[in-house]
Amino acid sequence: MKTLKRIAAGILSTALLLGMTSCAAAKQTEAVKDPAFTTIESGKLIMATNAFFPPYEYYEGEKIVGIDVEIATAVADKLGLELVIEDVEFDSIIAGVQGGKYDIGCAGMTVTEDRLKSVNFSTPYATGIQSIIVTADSEITDIDKLLAGNYKVGVQSGTTGDIYMSDTPENGGVGEDRIERYAKGNDAVIALTSGKIDAVVIDNEPAKAFVAANEGLKILETPYTIEDYAMAINKDNTALKDAINQALKELTDDGTIASIVNKYIPAEG
Ligand code: GLN
Repeated sequence: MKTLKRIAAGILSTALLLGMTSCAAAKQTEAVKDPAFTTIESGKLIMATNAFFPPYEYYEGEKIVGIDVEIATAVADKLGLELVIEDVEFDSIIAGVQGGKYDIGCAGMTVTEDRLKSVNFSTPYATGIQSIIVTADSEITDIDKLLAGNYKVGVQSGTTGDIYMSDTPENGGVGEDRIERYAKGNDAVIALTSGKIDAVVIDNEPAKAFVAANEGLKILETPYTIEDYAMAINKDNTALKDAINQALKELTDDGTIASIVNKYIPAEG
């Protein structure tokens, strides 16, 4: 089991809210009203995501909705920016943020030490767990069985599930030979239902959504690893990171983030 270094939350003082008026700018706080930060396009916050990751980002008709979309919209509002969403391949997001194509990567993205070499991350705003999906009648009952047998494992390309599972058996993976990579999590799930692979390792919330949408699948009880989700930001733009962290802090303190998460992931009773 791997442990990921948690990113300490930035210690930032809470800014005082300005007197309320009805215009959007009134929602900005002292800390972000006179921005020292810049974005790629003035007045816009360009977010890269991969919109096949329910309930964080997915299509409802033509529209991309979900937890990340709502949190990023609330952050953009605080910063006085218009959120622009670009739906791209998951494994191109970090490079795009690093290369100055997108202001943020917001895609249920796990903070990892490796990614931290290329981008900065905001304060984490959610937690994910790598889960294992198998067919209802599978002989794979836990992670040890999955690792020990000669099973084929499907993953979404470039995700932490891919990174961990494609690692060598000594490091808790199954090795390259047993990995099948898919551009979208759902493609891996389709391969599982058609018997091409034996298991899918993917984040728990999309796992639940995919299992609910497909007959004959189940999630194993043993989670593989627990992770923090945060927004990826270009390393040079620390002013934007500070402003985003300030906005996230305010949205955490006033309960906005909890209510967005609860709307999509009702507390289990
Ligand atoms: N949390 C996983 C990662 O960051 C998967 C994210 C995703 O597929 N959108 O790699």
